Amino acid sequence: MRATLMHGAGDVRVENVPDSVLEQPTDALVRVTASCICGSDLHPYHSMPSDQGPVYMGHEFIGVVEEVGSAVATLKKGDLVVAPFAYSDGTCQFCRAGLHTSCEHGGFWDGLPTQGGQTEAVRVPLADGTLYRLPVAADSALVPSLLTLSDVYGTGYHAAVAGGVTAGSSVTVVGDGAVGLLAVLSAKQLGAERIILMGRHASRTDLGRDFGATDVVAERGEEGIEKVRDLTGGFGTEIVLEAVGHMPAYEQAVGVVRPGGTISRVGVPQYSDAPVGFTSLFGGNITLTGGPAPTRGYIDRLLPAVLDGTVDPGRVFDRTVAIDDVPDGYRAMDEREALKVLVTP
Ligand SMILES: [Zn+2]
Repeated sequence: MRATLMHGAGDVRVENVPDSVLEQPTDALVRVTASCICGSDLHPYHSMPSDQGPVYMGHEFIGVVEEVGSAVATLKKGDLVVAPFAYSDGTCQFCRAGLHTSCEHGGFWDGLPTQGGQTEAVRVPLADGTLYRLPVAADSALVPSLLTLSDVYGTGYHAAVAGGVTAGSSVTVVGDGAVGLLAVLSAKQLGAERIILMGRHASRTDLGRDFGATDVVAERGEEGIEKVRDLTGGFGTEIVLEAVGHMPAYEQAVGVVRPGGTISRVGVPQYSDAPVGFTSLFGGNITLTGGPAPTRGYIDRLLPAVLDGTVDPGRVFDRTVAIDDVPDGYRAMDEREALKVLVTP
């Protein structure tokens, strides 16, 4: 089968690899019908040393169940399913608490050395807990929006939920990538009254306005912080959703959160040390929260509005490539020519 392998920074190849097959009785084999490239895939694209490769890429996909192991109870051949970016049993104490990304028996796709979403087929562990059956056909026009449930929509929603967004909240979203834009949509859904989007790509922030942003601040750094403070009576917003993961975005978040407020991070941090002292978090009684989104747990909540067309999170996809053109998809996202790239087999 064809699979996307990253050999090192800037070196993505689509190659023939051994077919994925069932290994455990709890596995399902899924034939991928739609997958995509994530902003977080760009982190290794920038920095992965070649001696760490090649690694299978992709952690967001929709597909058709082709075969199930003997212990799989809830899925059958022919089901259309969406896979979250982490697999989980759905039954352990953390899954029951809605924190599927901390599943005692689960993990992330990059922990499975020969599986990935940007391929033709995936062996899905703990299939009953991991996969979510979709009530549409594989060629449904809703597929792009349904695909966002595997990561970017669920992640944006998690940012908003963890940040405590509720009716009347004032929110700043840092980052105009797919997660940032869907954090805007999520904050709007949860009733936020003011949503300031910090981003500098007009085509993206325009989509952000469609999703519910009330203000756009294109400036970054100190200038951007001043602008947000000017818009909010000098103090910033009570909630900041950080959807980038680089240190300047964290610093921006600290700069625009008002005293007593909350910073919720869902951009995968590309740093291990960050200021938490008196002049950053402590002095203003700021709460820092966030982490990998348990997107599996949000699907029940987010699916109805996608199915009835109330929201259209799939608008973040602005390019589609066939699997053999995935390397060009990485290039296009890296050069900010594409916001998010859908991959078809
Ligand atoms: Zn679990």
